[in-house]
Amino acid sequence: MKSARSIRVRGVVQGVGFRPFVYRLAQEHGLAGWVLNGEEGVAIYVEGAEQRLAAFIEAIRTQAPLAAAISDIEVQPVEPSGLTGFTIRESERRERPTVRISPDLPVCDLCLQELSDPANPRYQYPYINCTNCGPRYTIILALPYDRPNTTMKSWPLDAYCHAEYHDPANRRFHAQPVACPGCGPHYFLQDAEGPTRGDDQAIQRAVELLRQGKIVAVKGLGGYHLACDARNPAAVGAMRERKYRKEKPFAVMVKDLDAARTVIEVSPEVETLLTSPARPIVLAPAKSELPGVAPDNDDLGVMLPYTPLHHLLFAAGAPDVLVMTSANRSSEPIAYDEQDAYDRLAGVADAFLVGERPIARRVDDSVARVGTFGPAILRRSRGYAPGAVANLPIARPLLAVGADLKNSVTLVVDGQAFVSQHIGDLDHYQAFQAFQETIRDLVSMYDVSWDDLLVVHDAHPQYLSTTYCQSLPAVEKLAAQHHRAHVASVLAERGEWDKPVLGVSFDGTGYGDGGSIWGGEFFAGSVREGFQRVAHLRRASLPGGDAAAQHPVQAAAGFLAQIEGLPDLSTGPFDFPSRYQQALELVRKDVRSFPTTSIGRLFDSAAALLGFTRAITFEGQAAMWLEALARKSDGSTAYPFPFEDGELDFRPLLQAVAEDRKRGRKQPDIARAFQLGVAQGLCSAIEALCRERQFDTVVLSGGVFQNELVLSDVRDLLSGEPLAIWTNHAVPPNDGGISLGQAAIAAFAGSGAGTTEGT
Ligand code: ZN
Ligand code: FE
Repeated sequence: MKSARSIRVRGVVQGVGFRPFVYRLAQEHGLAGWVLNGEEGVAIYVEGAEQRLAAFIEAIRTQAPLAAAISDIEVQPVEPSGLTGFTIRESERRERPTVRISPDLPVCDLCLQELSDPANPRYQYPYINCTNCGPRYTIILALPYDRPNTTMKSWPLDAYCHAEYHDPANRRFHAQPVACPGCGPHYFLQDAEGPTRGDDQAIQRAVELLRQGKIVAVKGLGGYHLACDARNPAAVGAMRERKYRKEKPFAVMVKDLDAARTVIEVSPEVETLLTSPARPIVLAPAKSELPGVAPDNDDLGVMLPYTPLHHLLFAAGAPDVLVMTSANRSSEPIAYDEQDAYDRLAGVADAFLVGERPIARRVDDSVARVGTFGPAILRRSRGYAPGAVANLPIARPLLAVGADLKNSVTLVVDGQAFVSQHIGDLDHYQAFQAFQETIRDLVSMYDVSWDDLLVVHDAHPQYLSTTYCQSLPAVEKLAAQHHRAHVASVLAERGEWDKPVLGVSFDGTGYGDGGSIWGGEFFAGSVREGFQRVAHLRRASLPGGDAAAQHPVQAAAGFLAQIEGLPDLSTGPFDFPSRYQQALELVRKDVRSFPTTSIGRLFDSAAALLGFTRAITFEGQAAMWLEALARKSDGSTAYPFPFEDGELDFRPLLQAVAEDRKRGRKQPDIARAFQLGVAQGLCSAIEALCRERQFDTVVLSGGVFQNELVLSDVRDLLSGEPLAIWTNHAVPPNDGGISLGQAAIAAFAGSGAGTTEGT
């Protein structure tokens, strides 16, 4: 007696070897039918004995390819049609593709074995890949994901690759980027002496240069890296000088886990992150000194090789720890095409290791770490993007354009929220270009019509992302408040729309209700009902507005102006530059000074009092410096940061910092007492507000919650309380997560959540 089933599998199921997997499974279970790539995922029809059908469906769940991520399997009993044999059918194309685009995948173990096997036709071929591994998002030009729609379209398959591509039993069956040395692209090396051709020769030459302490630009999956020997201080110094990057930490790529263990502490959790399919840069406690690589930092960012080329470089004898930093100057976006790389990196790189396969779009390395409350992503890009991170209950398409710093955008199609790769700071011309490209790219890829599209942007009227929305042809536009979006991003990840929570957003700066500058906010509510601001940091002043974020002493003036009897800050040990006095004048005369409740600026103020009196060279630098300083302390008790009448009062906190510094107390101990004070103040506010409103759950988001010291203090201080603490896991707690939060708020805009009429 035969039965039949119609099955739909949704999630990341295309471009990951799913159809050959289903084909083999059907063969194993002796079932007839077919499988195809549909617009909504993979569609399967099978018929056979009832028991075998059940085992087959169970095996789809439990044995799916490593790179697949099944979100849903729908099974319907249907009439058997008497098919014999099992086939893979052509893709069907309907109106709009809602299938998910797979993020890029690291080279798999089977391909690595072939790569090092002299008998294999793809021996040492830097573009080896299969359905389990290789490039995806960085080569896709359009959907559906077929070879003519990828940047591999100019390399016709030879007989060898063709046979594999069409053999359902082969690991390369319908592997769109499949190639071999006979028919595929190659690498070459370009330096002052001209081109070195041949994959082996080019790689060998690159390795020689790296060993000599030279800087080599290496084309990877989503852009160029600048590489040099991380154990060679002269090479690292040259990299900093030529890249105009004075202090920002560099990430390194290590040969393997053993090499990783020589430079960082590799806990089981760190190892899990390092070897996860996204292969992010993992921040972990640094072990050995790599001079100049990550100055003033206790952590080092480390990643494992993820392309065949990386493995070949190490196998050919490259130094076992390489600085691998995005190829750009300062904080411009990563270079991803040849001419751009040659133009922008002339004078930076001594040589270029160039691959012929074009990159469809720039995608930086992701950055993650083992957080106090679980894995935290600080930059979400390669390996994660453009994966869906949430399902929103909204039928119409929605575009959320994010914030101006650490920008990402989110496109919601049929309720699936696709978050773009990290785009960067929009005040850089090239990042702003990339922002526009990414929006066009996602909207056209998913065939979304501008007429239907709901667009949501930040409430800041002067954000470039906001003013850009005015030029978009979409009919309906909304504004979402920055800090409510931070809180909503955490709830969106969990699909918690109705849960009433206390939402805490500790942040740099963002546009608040009524135009003041927020960044230390407590909200009560839910995504569906909206968030009401119930408490905040005591108001300080921000002389010069957002620009004060560049100068800790300028921010400090706006806070210290409220404190009586401070020591003279123009002399030792403080030695504040004249910028402080000038800023103080602005505050006193109330000229170009704006009310602020920003915790980020409070951290800047403390950093200034502890000696960080120069301008910062990258966002969050002073706070990171302060965290690193506090970690050097052997222990300290907290300074007071009282919570009363809905306000956290910073005055006793900063006063204690200033007095202890004047007294000559050790700086690490002062920094520790300050941070512990912040955590204690935060926890007393959380306890009071949750008791008052009978909340059992607290949401923490915003850039300040990248500070693991504060997070671990909060965990310890609240350990006795029956409170759940939710933080971001799928998107960053910094402004990289804003677009997801905006999307969630906009999806519920009809029910009165925190939006206002937009541009
Ligand atoms: Zn593979
Ligand atoms: Fe923010």
